[in-house]
Amino acid sequence: MVFRTFLLKYGEIGIKGKNRGQFEDALAAQVRHALEKVEGDFEVTKEQGRIYVNVLGEDDSFDADEVTAALQKVFGLVGICQVLKAPVADPEQIAEDAIRYISKTYGLTPAGAEESTAMEASAGQEVLTFKVHTRRANKQYPMNSMEVDALVGEQLLAAYPGKMKVDVHQPDIMVYIEIREEVFIYSKIVPGPGGMPVGTNGRAQLLLSGGIDSPVAGWMIAKRGVALDATYFHAPPYTSERAKQKVVDLAKLVAQYAGPIRLHVVNFTDIQLAIYDRCPHDELTIIMRRYMMKIAEQFAAKDGSMGLITGESIGQVASQTIQSLVCTDDAASMPVFRPLIGFDKQDIIDLSLKIGTYDTSIQPFEDCCTIFVAKHPVTKPRLDIIKRSEEKLKDIIEALVEKAVEEAETIRIS
Ligand code: ATP
Ligand code: MG
Repeated sequence: MVFRTFLLKYGEIGIKGKNRGQFEDALAAQVRHALEKVEGDFEVTKEQGRIYVNVLGEDDSFDADEVTAALQKVFGLVGICQVLKAPVADPEQIAEDAIRYISKTYGLTPAGAEESTAMEASAGQEVLTFKVHTRRANKQYPMNSMEVDALVGEQLLAAYPGKMKVDVHQPDIMVYIEIREEVFIYSKIVPGPGGMPVGTNGRAQLLLSGGIDSPVAGWMIAKRGVALDATYFHAPPYTSERAKQKVVDLAKLVAQYAGPIRLHVVNFTDIQLAIYDRCPHDELTIIMRRYMMKIAEQFAAKDGSMGLITGESIGQVASQTIQSLVCTDDAASMPVFRPLIGFDKQDIIDLSLKIGTYDTSIQPFEDCCTIFVAKHPVTKPRLDIIKRSEEKLKDIIEALVEKAVEEAETIRIS
C-alpha cells in the first residue's frame, strides 16, 4: 500500500500577514521546481494554509524517500509528512486506516494478520509508545476530537497487543488525525530546511569561488528567501578548465536549494597581470578583491540584484582582517552580505558537509587567488594607500574591466 499524498508544513511565512498568499505561491513554485527532477507525476495544491503534494496516476513506482529528499531542499518548509488521505468516514474506518498507516510506516504487524512484508522489521521490536492527536476542522463531523482520540487509541492497542502502549507525555510516536474535507492520517514529520521560500526576498549576486566558504554563504542567503546569481573569476591559462568546472558543479549544488542561477564566468587574467605588474605585491590580493567587487556589481545591476554576497569571515586570512574588509567594502556601492562573518572555519565546514558542497569544494584545483598571491600580504591595509597604488592602473583599468564584463560567459544553471 502506498500513501500518495505529502503534507508540507511551513513556519515563518505564516507570520507574514497580507503577504501570505504571495509567500505560499512562491513556496508552491519552489516545491514544483524541486520535484521536476524526481521521477513521477506530481500535483502541488494550496488549501487552507496548507500545501500538499499529490502523486498523480495509478503508478506506484515513485520513490517516497526521493520525494522527501527533494523537498528537504525547499527553503520555507519545516516539516514533510507522508500522509494517508481518505474520504471522510465513520470513526471505525478512520481507526482502521490509522492501523494500516502505522503498520506500514513502522513495520508493525497487526494481530491476526496472516503475513506481512513488514514482519522482519518488527522482529524483536520494543513496545512503541504513542499518542493520538485529532484535529476536527470539519465541525459537521459527529464525534469530537477527544472521542476520536480515544476510539483510535483503543483500536490501535487492540491491533498491536503488547507492541504498542499509550504515553500521553513522552510518546515515541504521535498519530495525527485531521478531519477536514477529507481525512488525513500521518505520524512521521521529516524536518525541512526552514528559512523562507526563494524569490520572496529579492535577488543578490554571489561571488562564487571554488572554495568551501562561498557556496555556504550563498546557501545561507538563499535560505532567507533571496534568489541568487553568481560571478566567478578565473585566470586562464593560470587556472584550468577543471577549476572552472568545479565552480559550475558547486553552482549546481547550490541551485538545488536556490533555484536557477546565472553564473557569470569572468576572465580576470589581464586585470590580474596588470595589478601584478604595476602595484606593490603585498597589496595584490586586496586590490584584486576590490576589482572583483566592482565587476560583480555590474552583473548584479544587470541581473536585478540588490546586493553582493561573499564567503568572508573575520580574520580567516590576511585579506579578511577588519582592515582588509574595510578596503574591500569600499569598492562596492551595493551592500555586501557576509553571512559567515562570525563563523569559525570548522562551523563552515560542518555546514558545507550538511548541504553537500564539501566534497566538491575540496577538490584540489587552484584558483586565481592562489596563483597571484604574495608571500607576505599586508594584513592591515590602509584604504588611502591602496587607492594610491590603484592610481598606477589609471590609464588601462577601465578598458580592462569593460572588456572583462563584455566578454564574460554566462552559464545558466538550473
Ligand atoms: P572560499 O572558500 O569561498 O574560496 P576563501 O577562504 O578561499 O573562501 P578568499 O579566497 O579570501 O577566501 O575569498 C574570499 C571571498 O571572495 C570568497 O568567499 C568569495 O566570495 C570571493 N572570491 C574569492 N575568489 C573568488 C573568485 N575566484 N571568484 C569569485 N569570487 C571569489
Ligand atoms: Mg577562495
